[in-house]
Amino acid sequence: MKAPAFSYVRPQNLEDVIALMQEHGEEASLLAGGQTLHATLNMRLSEPGLLIDLQSVSELKGIQIKGSVLSIGAMVTHTEIEDSELIAQHLPLLCAAVVHIAHRAIRNFGTFGGSIAYADPAAEWPACLLALDGVVVALGPEGERRIKAQDFFTGLYSTNLENNELIIACEFPIGEDAKLFAFNELARRHGDYASVGIAASAKLQNKRIHDIRLAWLGAVSMPWRSLQTEAMIEGQELNDELIEKAVQFLKTELPAEADLTHSALTKTHLAGVMLKRALKSILQNH
Ligand SMILES: Cc1cc2nc3c(=O)[nH]c(=O)nc-3n(C[C@H](O)[C@H](O)[C@H](O)COP(=O)(O)OP(=O)(O)OC[C@H]3O[C@@H](n4cnc5c(N)ncnc54)[C@H](O)[C@@H]3O)c2cc1C
Repeated sequence: MKAPAFSYVRPQNLEDVIALMQEHGEEASLLAGGQTLHATLNMRLSEPGLLIDLQSVSELKGIQIKGSVLSIGAMVTHTEIEDSELIAQHLPLLCAAVVHIAHRAIRNFGTFGGSIAYADPAAEWPACLLALDGVVVALGPEGERRIKAQDFFTGLYSTNLENNELIIACEFPIGEDAKLFAFNELARRHGDYASVGIAASAKLQNKRIHDIRLAWLGAVSMPWRSLQTEAMIEGQELNDELIEKAVQFLKTELPAEADLTHSALTKTHLAGVMLKRALKSILQNH
């Protein structure tokens, strides 16, 4: 199928983007790398009257340290994250996750902001944002708004973003004590969306685990953290016995949802396997 007819603009700065969004309201859609939007247009799942292409807005580009946070501009591509020394040094979880996102050709165009805005429950970046306690920086006519990852994702493909707002960047805390991390995912073929995956971060002090965050992709109907399992693990000595207990506990907490290829029961089992691998890797790599 072909996309329906639409108008197209390529503003040069954020002020013009906000003005266009104000003027055209729900008739307009933002275009980032088009790696999701092109498909939904061609399938006529989306029929905007106007596409506002963000490619020329330089304020949305770049990876930089700003005080105690690392900021990733909304239009930074997956490839730029994959190739970034700053990311490798400060956010190695993202390096571990990025190779699971589709294939290099798609990663060359797909953007961090587009993936966070789309909020696919099986996508890698939303789970990483949750695991790393990231913050979404949104801009609207009233100015900037910072939304914690935990409050940003509200359901299946839905977020806290208002219709007249766009994501301009995401910020990640850096510089405190070194955090341990683990990323694991199962997909039917490499590059497919995850059947089940986990992004985890934690600190280990005197063998005890602290500040643990367990974020899931593909397992439930939205990017999601298993807060009860985190609470059950927090402050405990990380060993094989705790890992087994955590796996059993997770199975009672996870509201797994079936998809076209896996039942909820299979997903719950796979999540247990993912959790065990993630915690073992944190234990071995500290
Ligand atoms: C074959 C294939 C396989 C893929 N596999 C994976 C995978 O395994 N894992 C994965 O995570 N992704 C995968 N993707 C999706 C890919 O990662 C996209 O990059 C991602 O979905 C976002 O696309 P985009 O940045 O090009 O945004 P677009 O497609 O341009 O936009 C996506 C949506 O976000 C909105 N949007 C874009 N930018 C902003 C912004 N700054 N503020 C507010 N709203 C905005 C748009 O209006 C649109 O609704 C795959 C895509 C393809 C085509």
